[in-house]
Amino acid sequence: MDLFLDDEKQALIAEVRRFVEREVLPVARALEHADQYPDELVEKLKELGMFSTTIPEAYGGLGLDFSTYARIIEQLSRGWMSLAGVVNTHILVAYMLATYGTEEQRQRFLPRMAAGELRGALGLSEASGGSDVQAISMTAEREGDTYILNGSKLWVTNGVRAGIYAVLARTDPASHPPYKGMSLFLVERNTPGLSAGRVFDKLGYKGVETAEVIFDHVRVPATNLLGERPGQGFKHVMSGLEVGRINVAARAVGVAQAAFEDAIKYAQQRQTFGQPISQHQAIQFKLADMATRIEAARLLVEQAARKKDRGERCDLEAGMAKLFASETCQHVTLEAMRVFGGFGYTKEFNVERYYRDAPLMLVGEGTNEIQSLVIARQLLERYKLADER
Ligand SMILES: Cc1cc2nc3c(=O)[nH]c(=O)nc-3n(C[C@H](O)[C@H](O)[C@H](O)COP(=O)(O)OP(=O)(O)OC[C@H]3O[C@@H](n4cnc5c(N)ncnc54)[C@H](O)[C@@H]3O)c2cc1C
Repeated sequence: MDLFLDDEKQALIAEVRRFVEREVLPVARALEHADQYPDELVEKLKELGMFSTTIPEAYGGLGLDFSTYARIIEQLSRGWMSLAGVVNTHILVAYMLATYGTEEQRQRFLPRMAAGELRGALGLSEASGGSDVQAISMTAEREGDTYILNGSKLWVTNGVRAGIYAVLARTDPASHPPYKGMSLFLVERNTPGLSAGRVFDKLGYKGVETAEVIFDHVRVPATNLLGERPGQGFKHVMSGLEVGRINVAARAVGVAQAAFEDAIKYAQQRQTFGQPISQHQAIQFKLADMATRIEAARLLVEQAARKKDRGERCDLEAGMAKLFASETCQHVTLEAMRVFGGFGYTKEFNVERYYRDAPLMLVGEGTNEIQSLVIARQLLERYKLADER
């Protein structure tokens, strides 16, 4: 029973939960250990409408709100966090298109994205700038009715398999501050000059690729610049990242929930000193602390999602949700591992996977140090002292 969702949305979440139990849990551990892309599961996600969740109905999507989307992401991550990664930047790109794109751009891309035929990726970070987005060096030079993109993006989730890349580039490299000269471009994969570079071998978050994507004189029509005019890309991306942060925070809740559920089950099965370890107060304290933190994280995600649903910027709320949920996930997955004792450190249980997946959420969609800066900036603005001169 979810106090925040109506009956129809609860039924949808229950359907996703059943899908995870039936299709994901039986195969996730093997796929993850093999670092194998989950082709079959992605096809099933497509059938389930997971690529169309928040895309408006007018463009073939389900038109769900971000509150419901966050619950879906939590359920998918409870099964295998990487599945939420396959969906994340796709929904983020679709959001930017639906919110800031021209009608022609929406018509051209969103129906194919909703059908899962065209899957989105986000090219923001570069070797020269991850946290420092304004330090990117990729350029887009206007030539007649086209732009020519040069540079390379690092860390692109779905970088090899995506069908459409939203790429941040400098359209006015002389601009001060730099963000005013940045624009976002929509680039389809088969565009000449676009290629995938190295693919990273990671600690966790396996199965989904994280790749370098190279743009060597990639020519796109000027109509592929998101929106009506150049210089708006940084703003588009910052608003889009709020959706990404809701996703990452919801993922963290899902992974932490999975770790908690496994731990409370194991604690009732494992006996020491003549009784289940769940009867030892030290273990009970852990379980209580884990569950309380997870619930608090879930509520922060809900708050951020609701504000986004109202069409408002929510960098404070999304930042708090992402910061708290990911730190919670990191803490809870280690606590769950402790509950499992020696077996927690083996590949016989999922708890070691949760522990390896958790740190991604500390870094992805902006590190937690950057979230703290965003939160503090907003707080200082909100609590600014009145000018007493
Ligand atoms: C698996 C994975 C998937 C990713 N997917 C994508 C993707 O799809 N698209 C995309 O564009 N990017 C993606 N990223 C990139 C991710 O967003 C960046 O890694 C992240 O923003 C940090 O940037 P960086 O790696 O350059 O670290 P840096 O910016 O070099 O930061 C290094 C350290 O310094 C700290 N730091 C930096 N600046 C400050 C400051 N001002 N104050 C305090 N501390 C600071 C950081 O918090 C961090 O601890 C992905 C990353 C990973 C690991």
